[in-house]
Amino acid sequence: MNRENIYASLGIDSEVYAYGEGIVRELSGRFAKIDETAEYNQMKVIHAMHEAQVSEACLTGTTGYGYNDLGREKLEEVYAHTFHTEAALVRPLISCGTHALSIALFGNLRTGDELLSISGKPYDTLEEVIGIRPSRGSLAEYGITYKQVDLREEGSFDFEGIRNAIGPKTKLVAIQRSKGYATRKTLSVSEIAEAVKCVKEVDPNLPVMVDNCYGEFVERVEPSDFGADMIVGSLIKNPGGGLAPVGGYIAGTRECVEKASFRMTCPGLGSEVGPSLNMNTSFYQGFFLAPVVTAAALKGAIFSANVYERLGFTVVPDSTEERHDIIEAVTLETPERVIAFCEGIQKAAPVDAHVTPEPWDMPGYDDPVIMAAGAFVSGSSIELSADGPIRPPYNVYFQGGLTWPSAKLGILSSLQSLKDKGLVTIPHC
Ligand SMILES: *Cc1c(COP(=O)(O)O)cnc(C)c1O
Repeated sequence: MNRENIYASLGIDSEVYAYGEGIVRELSGRFAKIDETAEYNQMKVIHAMHEAQVSEACLTGTTGYGYNDLGREKLEEVYAHTFHTEAALVRPLISCGTHALSIALFGNLRTGDELLSISGKPYDTLEEVIGIRPSRGSLAEYGITYKQVDLREEGSFDFEGIRNAIGPKTKLVAIQRSKGYATRKTLSVSEIAEAVKCVKEVDPNLPVMVDNCYGEFVERVEPSDFGADMIVGSLIKNPGGGLAPVGGYIAGTRECVEKASFRMTCPGLGSEVGPSLNMNTSFYQGFFLAPVVTAAALKGAIFSANVYERLGFTVVPDSTEERHDIIEAVTLETPERVIAFCEGIQKAAPVDAHVTPEPWDMPGYDDPVIMAAGAFVSGSSIELSADGPIRPPYNVYFQGGLTWPSAKLGILSSLQSLKDKGLVTIPHC
């Protein structure tokens, strides 16, 4: 059986296959660059594992209090060495990215302090953590105020606005690297580096926290290489490498990480307790694989941008832009296309390929949302996934794919689904 036939067995017809192949051939130069970054980051992780002297004994876990959990302690060293920070928390007790960010914020702010976001409105779920949307237990309820400086029209930092906004009450500055589900551009590490420099020029002791979700290993450097005091993320995105079944991390200065640890568990106990259960192997192995898994997701994102841009749709980032995270937004213009796209992605998943996703009223959203995710880990968005709120301009957000071939199949399958419903015409090139 040749390659075209094996794709045919998965429902991809010869027209869609040929269209995809034409695009893949043109992307070889960019893919080679992505592989070089993955190689660089792979060396960074292996070097960190050597420095921490990871041993077989680290792969077994602890239960109960988790005192003297060697595997947990060394894993945190591996993260700290890789991200060039003094310390890190990497725990299955941290349920998700929002939880990790919440721990970092509550641990480092006190009543009377002000949190300043300098990349505009933060990710939706943080609105309730901060209290932008009134919510029980928010920072606002504890008397911690919030201010934000929006990004400028073209998506860059407003340096003058930042300098003016920092006052005596400002005790933590927050930056969000990825656009999340907004339409702005994702910030590059070098842009973040300039913003950190700007903050430190006003007050060298003012800590800066970066929401690093979806950004890890996309570049050779991380915000922590340029003075960010904390970087925070989710293990069911890039750094978990698809193997971590849960978890979050906070890497940064000893001071900031320690303060966060007293919020993660409780005052007095901090990072000393918290069993790793039986998750150490998947955390280590996932982090080891993460540079290459992130590269696969990046290739998928670039492929999707090219596939859909040439069909006439607006894509963010566009087909040629440099990438700073793994998310691709495609404006499909009609609800039927959003649904067909997600159905196609679902059909290509390794798990639950036979089920049909439907829009539903998700808690916290005003419009119905459709999600495609046939993942090994529930909700994992480093795995092949797509979602879109059913509202104009009918954007679908695509991300992940643990391997490049599976991401490629996902995109081809989304296109096949659109074609079968007569919702696109494929150009002949
Ligand atoms: C995913 C994400 C988060 C955290 O989301 P969880 O679903 O709680 O893991 C926070 N910020 C950004 C930018 C994200 O992409």
